[in-house]
Amino acid sequence: MSKHIFVTGGVVSSLGKGLTSASIGMLLEKRGLSVRMQKLDPYINVDPGTMSPYQHGEVYVLDDGSETDLDLGHYERFTGSPLTRDCNYTTGQIYQAVINKERRGEFLGQTVQVIPHITNEIKGVIAKLGGPSVDVVITEIGGTVGDIESQPFLEAIRQFALDIGKENCLYIHLTLVPYLKAAGELKTKPTQHSVGQLRQIGIQPDILICRTERALSRDERAKIALFCNIPIEAVIEERDKEFSVYEVPMSLVEHGLDELIVRKLQLKAGPPDLASWRELLHRLRNPEYEITIAVVGKYSEHRDAYKSIYEALDHGGIANNAQVRIQRVHSEAVEREGPERLLSGVDGVLVPGGFGERGIEGKVDAVRFARQRGIPFLGICLGMQCAVIEFARNVIGLQGANSTEFDKDNPHPVICLLDEQKTITDKGGTMRLGAQPARLVPGSRTALCYDTLEISERHRHRYEFNNAYRQQFAAHGMQVSATSPDGKLVEVVEIPGHPWFVAVQFHPEFKSQPTDPHPLFEGFVGAAVARHLSRSERQTKAEPADATERKKPKPFEHPTRS
Ligand code: GLN
Repeated sequence: MSKHIFVTGGVVSSLGKGLTSASIGMLLEKRGLSVRMQKLDPYINVDPGTMSPYQHGEVYVLDDGSETDLDLGHYERFTGSPLTRDCNYTTGQIYQAVINKERRGEFLGQTVQVIPHITNEIKGVIAKLGGPSVDVVITEIGGTVGDIESQPFLEAIRQFALDIGKENCLYIHLTLVPYLKAAGELKTKPTQHSVGQLRQIGIQPDILICRTERALSRDERAKIALFCNIPIEAVIEERDKEFSVYEVPMSLVEHGLDELIVRKLQLKAGPPDLASWRELLHRLRNPEYEITIAVVGKYSEHRDAYKSIYEALDHGGIANNAQVRIQRVHSEAVEREGPERLLSGVDGVLVPGGFGERGIEGKVDAVRFARQRGIPFLGICLGMQCAVIEFARNVIGLQGANSTEFDKDNPHPVICLLDEQKTITDKGGTMRLGAQPARLVPGSRTALCYDTLEISERHRHRYEFNNAYRQQFAAHGMQVSATSPDGKLVEVVEIPGHPWFVAVQFHPEFKSQPTDPHPLFEGFVGAAVARHLSRSERQTKAEPADATERKKPKPFEHPTRS
């Protein structure tokens, strides 16, 4: 039988429960255990797909096409645990399932209630992840203890231990221990209250992980332990990490978390093999180059809106011995101030995905700037569509070219609705979603990056390149370098005459890991490093640097995913 770990959060939101859960998953895997990971979100939307990035941050897409919480991105970057739509449930989905059962008459005349019907449904989705080949299921409960919305989930995980035996379950609670400058002290009271709330509903946490900006003294840990009714060794400090999120697992190991979990759940685990993770941190701490990449989007003020893209850029940096400084540029600022002022000093420009017309002209102008100045460019989904619009207008001369998403009646609809989308009216879960195969054109820059001709990448869009214009684009120097296997859908375009200009209809950022960087991010950051070097050489009036001479680290020996 699988063992279950439940991760809850208290005091405030945004404590990094996702990162902590992912780190626990990674540490258990590194001890040879097989782990499945899951997030239960208390909001009523069926999935985050219909939510604005301002509300929710990035929507993370899985191979199976499910649109999920961004914490699943942490799970995939830290672990090799396979993720499917069973790994993210919301209150909306739980209620939808229960109501559907009621309509089918499955409750045989009963009054349908939160307890037991909703809680049974929740327990069912938790149990579903377990199985004979799974040692540990880690279930993260979204929200903060004390929220009305999360109560059914907390009640369900309380009952879960009754069903399968307390010895098979572990409750880990993540809290904040704030430092009050005026008092010059760390304050443990919010943690005491938060644990008090958990205990009121019948959950006694086994382990407390305390987020803090300063080290917890033994006395402070002893005080928390006493008031929260747990042994002192189960009060684990998690200090803020300014340098990299990939440090979190190591600091948890230093404080004995993995050992404690293994002991408390009586897991048959080996010692942790952290060599590749140590090497990763070593590379992160010792970059040879520092480059700047501008990410030009319309949600650039929101830290989490392009989360996986920022992470994948870091991974591209790791592969190239470079620290990537990300300059978040608002596309509407490009419209107001022009690209020259905002993008002149950067080594690469990335235009990410998005929806709706706002800020589009700024993105198109950023593409033009990168194309004309020979700045390495990576366009992703909407970013690819902007690259196509820009090329149509400014190179082919198709005035007013646009996507029908922004201008239905434009004279040159170079981006138009996918055929399969034309009759769809519902917004939720109806895009072209999830992993789709693509065939690369031999000899293209894209094929060189991937080093293979068959790929599979994740999609999330309704519009596509309009095939009626393919010939004109090719004749003017923008090549199609990947299509769907039947050749009908354009998946990648590139400009062979440019130092590095690749734009993709899919989302490569969802398949990048720190120890297995995505080839396109590796290639893009590599080109940005080359530009950076040749610019600094020019400034010192020496010979231009030869990009191929650069020292690049060897690939990792133990990628967590093949
Ligand atoms: N809005 C565009 C479409 O639906 C691009 C989507 C995206 O960037 N994810 O096709």
